[in-house]
Amino acid sequence: MHLNVETLSLINGGQALVLALMLWFGTHGGSNHALNGLRLRAGALLLEACGDFMLAFDFKFSQLTLLLVGNTFNLTAQALTIVALRMVLGRQRRWREAVLLGIAGWLGVTYLSTVDPNYLLRVLWGSIILVCNASLNIAALWGGCRKRETRAQCVLIWAYMLAIALLAWRNISLWTLPTPLQGIGSPSPINVIYVFLLGMQPLLASVGFLLLYNEILQRELYNLARIDPLTGVTNRLGLLEASETLLARARSKRESIGVLLIDADHFKSINDRFGHDHGDQVLLELVANIRRMLRTGDLVGRVGGEEFLVLSPSVQEADLLALAERIRAAIEGSSFPVAGETYALTVSIGAAIADASEPDMMAARRRADTALYEAKRAGRNCVMISAS
Ligand code: GH3
Ligand code: MG
Ligand code: MG
Repeated sequence: MHLNVETLSLINGGQALVLALMLWFGTHGGSNHALNGLRLRAGALLLEACGDFMLAFDFKFSQLTLLLVGNTFNLTAQALTIVALRMVLGRQRRWREAVLLGIAGWLGVTYLSTVDPNYLLRVLWGSIILVCNASLNIAALWGGCRKRETRAQCVLIWAYMLAIALLAWRNISLWTLPTPLQGIGSPSPINVIYVFLLGMQPLLASVGFLLLYNEILQRELYNLARIDPLTGVTNRLGLLEASETLLARARSKRESIGVLLIDADHFKSINDRFGHDHGDQVLLELVANIRRMLRTGDLVGRVGGEEFLVLSPSVQEADLLALAERIRAAIEGSSFPVAGETYALTVSIGAAIADASEPDMMAARRRADTALYEAKRAGRNCVMISAS
């Protein structure tokens, strides 16, 4: 078997077709922006396969048809890939830029093959468009190499950089040849190497997209496991991890952490009077009120039911009491709309200071709990602090 451009294109087309079908049928289990992005990428692969098959059977087409139709397939596939990548990443789509680049590419290539035929300039123009496409993709992935959790983005950035290097090599090689080539079908090692490397692109890009999708799913699962589904604030697991991080930071700075345990007063009566759904709405409103009172760096989480924990780094007792009092007063002063009525909700707050020398936050949590119990016993709607 001759390793010429036609044979390679046939292999490339077959590979792109199989990958397109696998991606298409393998992503039909659900619908979200990332899965839709993978499906769009499958569509792009199908167009790439069409372009490859045309090149494989180039003897069946006129040179002009090959150029115009083949490039339409390839440029459209590139445009779809730009949008597909951004869909997978959940970024702004950039349809306009993708389409404009495709049109500019097609017009330039058509001009340089019909009005003023020039193979070298045509390749150069096509390469400039491809570099712009790759740059748009790199821009979407930018920053991926800074964090461990976005390794797949980093791998894709390198893949696009390599593609740019390949395009530069192809152009430099073509311009420095003693006898210029007339087209991609010309039997030259430059064309064969280029088409061979180009053939790997569908496989590399598909693996890259799947790595990216896997990374996004991992991140979503990680976040979901740490967020309370009703209120959207950190849950117990998130609080546990955050308290370890905060305590480690406090130790290095020799500072203390403030702990507030906030419990809604007589919350059961809201459910009894208005129903559980309205109770949920009040909980959301309560969280919004607490959040409004926090400083940057403070964290609120739901420890269960209608009980919330606030961690406030770098505070002394007086600052912590002031914060707790602000939260209590804000809630007392707010009116909570429930089923067309307004409900006057209050909270009781137990406060404690976790010293940086403590091994974990458990003891401070227990002290805050005792203080909360005292606040309830003292008649509710008040703040109590435990003696450390
Ligand atoms: P206290 O002042 O002593 O804290 O009285 P309370 O009624 O708030 O206290 P208790 O712990 O007896 O009841 C808490 C109630 O919170 C019980 C439950 O009906 C309600 N609750 C817990 N989680 C949720 C929730 O997710 N949604 C709604 N709507 N209610 C909840
Ligand atoms: Mg309560
Ligand atoms: Mg409670």
